[in-house]
This record gives sequence, structure tokens and C-alpha cells, in this order.
Amino acid sequence: MELFNIVLNFLYPNVCGVCKKVCDNPICNNCMNKLNKDNINGRKVYIQTNYRFIDEHIYLFRYQGIIRELMVKYKFKEESYLYKSFSYMILKNEKIMNYINRYDYILPIPIHKKRKKQRGFNQSELIVKDICKNEQRIKYEKDILIKIKNVKPQSSLNKTERKINILDAYEIDKSKIDRIKDSNILLFDDIFTTGSTANECAKVLKKYGARKVTILTIAKD
Ligand SMILES: [Zn+2]
Repeated sequence: MELFNIVLNFLYPNVCGVCKKVCDNPICNNCMNKLNKDNINGRKVYIQTNYRFIDEHIYLFRYQGIIRELMVKYKFKEESYLYKSFSYMILKNEKIMNYINRYDYILPIPIHKKRKKQRGFNQSELIVKDICKNEQRIKYEKDILIKIKNVKPQSSLNKTERKINILDAYEIDKSKIDRIKDSNILLFDDIFTTGSTANECAKVLKKYGARKVTILTIAKD
């Protein structure tokens, strides 16, 4: 049943992801206007410490309202075709696109292979691939970052537990180290809550010589 839904969602994508009306774009003009009112293009710059490795966090929305509903459907209700609506929000956001273009690579936050098998897809990877398909100046490198520990879902834990849970969960594919050294890397994830996940990824990328690591997310909780 799960596979059937995924296949169906891929075969029947020509609706607005928000209101479900038939539409040529992944979000209709009406829903896009509503979303634009909630769009804040937030930016937070971090000071580097011995335990903070992320340089900046960029996000489009707060995790509430339409965005929250859409994200729950995308991640937990098998509506995988919604990746197109999320990539569309980014592709249509000139400020964010200019920002993405300043980076050498965009890397989706990886999920563990067992989790990928369960869900059928990596929610962040689908969005990144679609952005890069539509905007070829942006470079996407597959599987530079690997999740080596299959940890508990972060959403089920509190702030302190999240930090411990995700500790040393990521590694680098050693054959791709040359792509990391002196690079400006943009990580991508759907949502930013405590930042522990992004920070762990930045830690390992900096260990192998990345110059700057920023995280872009659709929403900030
Ligand atoms: Zn709509």
C-alpha cells in the first residue's frame, strides 16, 4: 500500500500541493500569494566556538500554519510528490536563490539507509535534486555526507536528548574529501529545531577542511 501511494503520487503530480486544485505549477498563484505573506527569509549568523560549527542558518518560514501542515503530510503521510511544492518555494524565491548561488555545493542532510528504506525516500534529497534539476548553476554532490548511526528520530526527543542522540552520527565518504577542502557548503534540511543535526554535519565537514558551512531550511521551529 505504501509503495502504491508513492508511485501514485509520482504519477499524479499536476495539482497544487496546498489546495489540491488541478494546476500546472506545484503551487497555484492563489496559494503562493498566501504563502508569500508568511515568508520571512530569516537569517541567523553564529559565532564559532569549540562546539559550534555552523556559520549561518537561512530559512523561509516559521514552522506553523500552512507550512507545518504541508510538511507533516510530506514526511509522515506519504505525500512524497510534495517535494515539488517545496522546491518551487525555493526556486521562486530570488533572495534565497542568490544566496544558494554563492556556495560551491548544496548537500541534503542524509538519513540512515535503514530509515530511507522505511520511508522510501530522503525528504531533503528529493527537494535538493529538484532544485538542481531546474537551476543547473547549483552543484549537488551525492553522498558526500553519510549518516553512520541509525539514531532515534530527533522529533521524539527534548533539546538535551537531541544533542546526545545525534553525536557523531555523520561521516564523510573519504573518496570525496577533495571536494570538501576549502569549499563553501550549503546544507539543506526541511526543518531546523535545535540545530543539533546541522551542527554535527558541519563538525565533520569542517574536520575535513570546509571553509564555511551554512544550513538552509524551509522552516524554523
Ligand atoms: Zn493552491
